[in-house]
Amino acid sequence: MATEPTSLQEAIIHFADADNCIAYLVARRWPDGVVTCPTCGRKNPRYIAERKVWQCSIKHPKRQFSIKLGTIFEDSPLGLDKWLPAVWLLSNCKNGISSYEIGRDLGVTQKTAWFMLSRIRLGLQSEDGGMLAGEIEVDETFIGAKSRNMHKAKRAEKIKGRGADGKEIVFGMVERGGRVVLNHVENRSKKELQSVIRDSVTAGAAIFSDELLSYDGLDGDYKHAVINHAVEYVNGNVHTNIMENFWSLLKRGLHGTYISVEPFHLFRYLDEQAFRYNNRKEIGDGGRFDICVSQGFGKRLTYKQLTGKA
Ligand SMILES: [Zn+2]
Repeated sequence: MATEPTSLQEAIIHFADADNCIAYLVARRWPDGVVTCPTCGRKNPRYIAERKVWQCSIKHPKRQFSIKLGTIFEDSPLGLDKWLPAVWLLSNCKNGISSYEIGRDLGVTQKTAWFMLSRIRLGLQSEDGGMLAGEIEVDETFIGAKSRNMHKAKRAEKIKGRGADGKEIVFGMVERGGRVVLNHVENRSKKELQSVIRDSVTAGAAIFSDELLSYDGLDGDYKHAVINHAVEYVNGNVHTNIMENFWSLLKRGLHGTYISVEPFHLFRYLDEQAFRYNNRKEIGDGGRFDICVSQGFGKRLTYKQLTGKA
């Protein structure tokens, strides 16, 4: 097998070859090398090289299958030579990449590119990484919603988590030196925020927050330190600077690259930005790409689901 790519340029060249695409995906999906029928689970189907599909040993629907079956690429007429570079771009571009850019880069329509990016974001959705521990900064931010183009009934049905002024509220928790966890929340009440904290942060951890009253009462389970932003932004190690820097990054992506995001798609962008942050260390572009591809197995998003028509 040819050496696996470590840069976008190498990825484009490597994945221009369909056999390289298949070899790459097979190695991630079936690490023991034993191809398995996604429909019935039988092992070692026959490979039909000229059509690049496998055929299961018994008869059933989808007996013949390509590598795309049972992945975020299922049923897509687009080749993996377009899909895999798109995955590369989204898992590695710091501020995200818009459907217009992907469309131009890959020679597909903006609508197609938007659908592709939404599917790829499923691969960016991390599996549960466990509880946060150590020193945790918590903070909330408002994301300006531009939902005026949506039909009214749909708006009522789809929009959750709006602030009083029509903005979405995102609640973030970051472990210093570790992961960020983001939640699109209904409101900033004590009940809402503290239930998220208790679900995500190990008891006994140190929590740093601003003076929002919703954080009152964490003292019982955590070491809670409050920074008063009216007076100062840092007091020793009492600050929420890491979380605030993350918000700048998130907003640069949301407002710069994506222009407007409908509230019911917001979680997809949160997943995306959290993915790049949580995989920022050492693994390199090829490593982030690898994780995204591997997390995309067994997941599917249809156009109807995406547009809320399913
Ligand atoms: Zn089968």
